[in-house]
Amino acid sequence: MAQKKKKKMTITQFILIYIAILSLILLGISACSNEVNSGNTQVVETPDTPTEVITTSTIQNYIDTPEPIETPLKGALSGLKVCIDPGHQQTPPEGKETIAPWSSDTKLKNTHGATGISTKIEEYKTNLEIALKVRDTLEKEGAEVVMTREDNESTHISNQDRANIANNAGVNLTISIHCNSADSQNIAGIETYTRGSGDGTAEYKERSDKEFALSQKLLSSVAATTGAAARDAHKSDAYTGINFAKYPTFILECGFISNPEEDQKLNSAEYQKKIADGILSFLKDNKGSF
Ligand SMILES: [Zn+2]
Repeated sequence: MAQKKKKKMTITQFILIYIAILSLILLGISACSNEVNSGNTQVVETPDTPTEVITTSTIQNYIDTPEPIETPLKGALSGLKVCIDPGHQQTPPEGKETIAPWSSDTKLKNTHGATGISTKIEEYKTNLEIALKVRDTLEKEGAEVVMTREDNESTHISNQDRANIANNAGVNLTISIHCNSADSQNIAGIETYTRGSGDGTAEYKERSDKEFALSQKLLSSVAATTGAAARDAHKSDAYTGINFAKYPTFILECGFISNPEEDQKLNSAEYQKKIADGILSFLKDNKGSF
């Protein structure tokens, strides 16, 4: 009896244990499934950027934030594209290039420029200093300024390259900034150069005359703001940068660095700004001519 009872208990126990094991297995599968689910949920609920809780104020923010609108530069020179070309550079490119599209004559691609008799500062450095002030002054008035160079050391461009920078940018005009030099230390004042007779056509002459008339105005404007002497406006076929330019191009010789007094002035920030103001005044007065 006792044996029989024991056997019956064992079968019941076996069934109970079987059920228990089955339950445990099912529970285990369920738990794994939950883990996977919760893992998936975690990825969904924890994105890289925190989810924004949409509230009434958030919606209001979207409504109140205006679309960014690109406002064009306002100013007296708005719409004018000017190339400013600081003459020369520390290391000119080697070799020669043709001087004009209509000529087979050649000339050095560029030169080092003169040196201040008193300051001993090289012309290319002074030209860049002046040109950067011109750039800033014109940009303040809304002009778009294209620079042929903005440093002294790493620039290696020829005069044809300079003309092409302006041509490719489709500028209204170019002003090439230079300082003059003469054998006599007494010579001082401002000069300009514009295109000469060129290819000899009537069309070229018309361009030449128009640019010459404007150069006289540029000369007097810069003389007025600096107090320097307005020496001469020249027409010339000798400048590669002018000859290859599609658009009106003016060489502005800001003064003589072979004159000790003018050399000092040309290398002072205050005087350089006066030159920039003279160019600004010229462009404001003649914007309609370009
Ligand atoms: Zn020069």
